[in-house]
Amino acid sequence: MSTTRSILAALVTSALMLSGCNLKNKAKADDKSAKPDTSAAPASDGSAASSATAKPKKELPPGKFTLMAQEVKKNPDLGKFLVYFKTGERLDAVVKAMGEYAMPRDIPIVARECGVENAFYSPQKHAISLCYELADKFYKGFISKGLSPQEANQRTLDGLTFTMLHEMGHALIGENEIGVSGGEEDNVDDLAGLILIQAKKPEWAANGPIALMQLDQGDKPQYFDEHSITQQRLGNILCMIFGSDPQGQKLILERVPELRPRAPKCPKEYAQRDKFWTKALEPFARSRN
Ligand SMILES: [Zn+2]
Repeated sequence: MSTTRSILAALVTSALMLSGCNLKNKAKADDKSAKPDTSAAPASDGSAASSATAKPKKELPPGKFTLMAQEVKKNPDLGKFLVYFKTGERLDAVVKAMGEYAMPRDIPIVARECGVENAFYSPQKHAISLCYELADKFYKGFISKGLSPQEANQRTLDGLTFTMLHEMGHALIGENEIGVSGGEEDNVDDLAGLILIQAKKPEWAANGPIALMQLDQGDKPQYFDEHSITQQRLGNILCMIFGSDPQGQKLILERVPELRPRAPKCPKEYAQRDKFWTKALEPFARSRN
């Protein structure tokens, strides 16, 4: 499944400038020919058909994700989180990397005071909100667990990275009318996990659901919620991390023995998720069209 792995990895590794990533954007010729691209203009003469490079470029819309951070007005304590959203920082790099995917319109990702600990995509406003209150919840949760401010800061940023990619997944599905099965919430967790794992940042992926656990401390499990229970979300991500590299990630099974019964199936689970998202996003990938 190396072909399907490349598409997600290529976009993130290039923009995040992560060294040591050996995944290459090596689309196979048979992938191209298998794609039912009937909208492509016919060649003006028979000669073009013999050249693989003569395939007409598909026109993709210019829309992309953009990131902006609003100033804090009500709660000055939240102001410290603005730094995450500055140009050149990690979240900005992730957003730029996701420009690989064409959107029918620009989708602003707005970091702001919302009055709630949340992050969400609005299909009506065609925008994503990342609430400073959510960052604050993550941060305070990690501090209460005894982490140093520096470590809490890092984990909070990891949590926001995962959460932002999760919301971008909702926007990709909503704006491009991508069909899903098995629950959109799980699907977009998969996307966030795949991107971070393939960008060689599995710890960022794992810290996503770990950060989200701060939101349901002490609550009863919400069995009827559209989201899986946070421990399940973490289990899914850990299974993907293990499945992506069973030999290299075998320590996970020592740290999280609960994963052992599922572990033999994780490589297949990982490959299935990767295949789904790669196929789903391929029509919108600028480097593939
Ligand atoms: Zn969601």
